[in-house]
Amino acid sequence: MGNTVPSNFGFFKGVEKNFDKASKYTRFSKGILEQIKACNSVLQVKFPVRVGENVEVIEAYRIQHSHHRTPCKGGIRYSMEVNQDEVMALAALMTYKCAIVNVPFGGAKGGIRIDPTKYSEYELEKITRRYTSELVKKNFIGPGVDVPAPDYGTGAREMAWIVDTYRSLNPNEVYSNACVTGKPVTQGGVRGRVEATGLGVFYGVREACKVEEDMQRLGLPVGIEGKRVIVQGLGNVGYHAAKFFQEAGATLVGLIEYEGAIYNENGLDLQEVVAHRTTTGSILNFKDAKSVEKSSEVLEYPCDILIPAALEAVINEGNADKIQAKIIGEAANGPVTPAADEVLNKKGVLIIPDIYLNAGGVTVSYFEWLKNLSNVRYGRLEKRFDDNMYAEIINIIESMTDKKVSKMEKKILLHGPDEIDLVHSGLEDTMIGAYKEVWDIWKQQNIEDLRTAAFVCAINKVGVAYEELGIFP
Ligand code: GLU
Repeated sequence: MGNTVPSNFGFFKGVEKNFDKASKYTRFSKGILEQIKACNSVLQVKFPVRVGENVEVIEAYRIQHSHHRTPCKGGIRYSMEVNQDEVMALAALMTYKCAIVNVPFGGAKGGIRIDPTKYSEYELEKITRRYTSELVKKNFIGPGVDVPAPDYGTGAREMAWIVDTYRSLNPNEVYSNACVTGKPVTQGGVRGRVEATGLGVFYGVREACKVEEDMQRLGLPVGIEGKRVIVQGLGNVGYHAAKFFQEAGATLVGLIEYEGAIYNENGLDLQEVVAHRTTTGSILNFKDAKSVEKSSEVLEYPCDILIPAALEAVINEGNADKIQAKIIGEAANGPVTPAADEVLNKKGVLIIPDIYLNAGGVTVSYFEWLKNLSNVRYGRLEKRFDDNMYAEIINIIESMTDKKVSKMEKKILLHGPDEIDLVHSGLEDTMIGAYKEVWDIWKQQNIEDLRTAAFVCAINKVGVAYEELGIFP
């Protein structure tokens, strides 16, 4: 993204720092706090892959941060930035994320240190399958052990290769589909998983914007409509978050990608930008927008809501004081470093933390895992009424309530909720409930910021689980 990540940035240390700041608001002993914080199991593997005429040695990880609940859960990332520190930090964030949204998993994360754009599809498949076989050998994957999912640089395609490899190596396992989530819908995936993280980000920011006293403090009106939004990253998370903000009536004023950024205070149409990028290969030179080659500069442009949805540490001590946004919604994991956090909190910026805000992905992964374990199909598809009776019912409701029946309500009325309705409403409910829980802790314990409150919420839940489990032997 053309950002300047400080070279001495220690991601895991940063997570520990946030944890320590919160632990004083909890009642747990030093020992329990140390156990919650520690990464339980670290797997590093190096394996050979034949690429053309050559053999390449690939470095990969799977790290299980916490076994207070099993299976462990978290995505697999393909990027050249992957290293042990990064995967440890991301695994730890998964533990806290799952706890906040009451998804009963421990935290884990995986990563392969490759630039996926440098390999053919065939080579990527070989790398993914070999990696999966290493996880199987070391017992780092399985429906009740550890369940990967997509992350930066991976998607449904990779998850399908993983489940197929796992199944081939465990032919007698009944619930092998549940060894990974984020699969294609035709391979045991669930409808709504693709947009889940971005939609969760939208729901979370929407909840924050509903709170009158917080909006008043920020000098902003209540609600999403009309708010100026900048989104960094048009990957799966950023694209969907931007789409839902636009649909809700926010103005997308800035979009940031690695090749550059664009800004227009009157708004950018997301679909047109995507079409422009498909034809020209870049978001730059989009009509009526200012093009900025040093893309990270646009993080500092005027807006109400800034959504970093790319990689960690993009907001750091180098640019924190220049950020103009009043609300930062952390769609990425760890986009604001602890040093930047301090500067922004002093300025009164409302930071909606990653461990709450981007938990929509793992929430819907949980639905998918449950679906795979019970081998069921969610929702129903058959119509309940014939078309005439249906039209008549809509008429009656609209005339009685004086309100138009929405598209979603119509669908539910016609054949009951189908899978996507159930997934979206489960996700919405989760994000609303968790915001309230974290917000209450924030206000009731008079905690300095929302991130610290979110950590308190997570530590309390993980701490109780450890206490109840006792210590073996
Ligand atoms: N990779 C996503 C995350 O960071 C999703 C994890 C999952 O669904 O297990 O939250």
